[in-house]
Formats: sequence, structure tokens, C-alpha cells
Amino acid sequence: METLRAQGKFHAAHRQLEYQGKCAYVHGHTWRGTLVVRAERFPRDPKLDMSVDFGALKDIFKGLDHKMLVSKNDARFLDPALFEPEGVVVMPGENPSVENVAFYCLNEAISVLAELFPGQQVEYHIEVTIQETDNNFYTLDRTLVI
Ligand SMILES: [Zn+2]
Repeated sequence: METLRAQGKFHAAHRQLEYQGKCAYVHGHTWRGTLVVRAERFPRDPKLDMSVDFGALKDIFKGLDHKMLVSKNDARFLDPALFEPEGVVVMPGENPSVENVAFYCLNEAISVLAELFPGQQVEYHIEVTIQETDNNFYTLDRTLVI
């Protein structure tokens, strides 16, 4: 079994629509993300003799840095007349909760693997941990063939 771990940090804001409490208001976190990818044996680029580029996975977290994380329901931040579209990233689901930020990163990791090694039919175990604060972590993991 081979394991690859990529970590990153990003400063980003969000708010939870319909939430009763302080998380309903725009606020920021210094988020930390960890992506752990496992495979029995990673495919390798034959010329470079390397598997997955760490940078490609860390770019997932970099892409969220200094952004407003929103859901498709947040009409205010999705209105280009009110907020620059390049400053907004739409998370899956109904709110940009830590669960949905992790799911977004998982989907991005799947895209990275599919792009790097298309059609290889490798079974990957992908684990994403998103740390919202010093004490709040959320982890999701999936096993899938890409
Ligand atoms: Zn928050």
C-alpha cells in the first residue's frame, strides 16, 4: 500500500444561511486541509517516474485562499453586481459548512487523479480532513476506482 499526504492552509470566509446563531453572519477562518490518498500502487508518469504531484493536490486548498465560500443558495454573493465572481467559490450542498467544504475538496481530488492518470482503473482510498478552527475537524473518506 502506498500513501500520499498533502496539507494546505487557506484563509476564507463563509456564512450559514438559515442558521440560528452567529454562524449566520459572514466570518472567516484559517482553515487547514489534509488530503490522504492511498492506493495499492500509484500509477506513475513513465518519463518522470513519479506518481501524484503534491502540488496538484495542494492547489485544491490554494484555490480556496482569500475566497468567499458560498452555496448555490447565496444570491447576494452570487450577484456579480454586488461581489466579484473571482472571489467566490460555490460549495456543494445547501450551505458552505465544513462538511461541504470537505466534499468539495474530495471532488476536486477525484478530478486531479482522473486528469493525471485517465482510464487507469486504480482503486484509491481518499480521505479529506478539514479543520475549521483549532478544535473542530471534519473527515470524510471514500474508496473509488478512477
Ligand atoms: Zn465558520
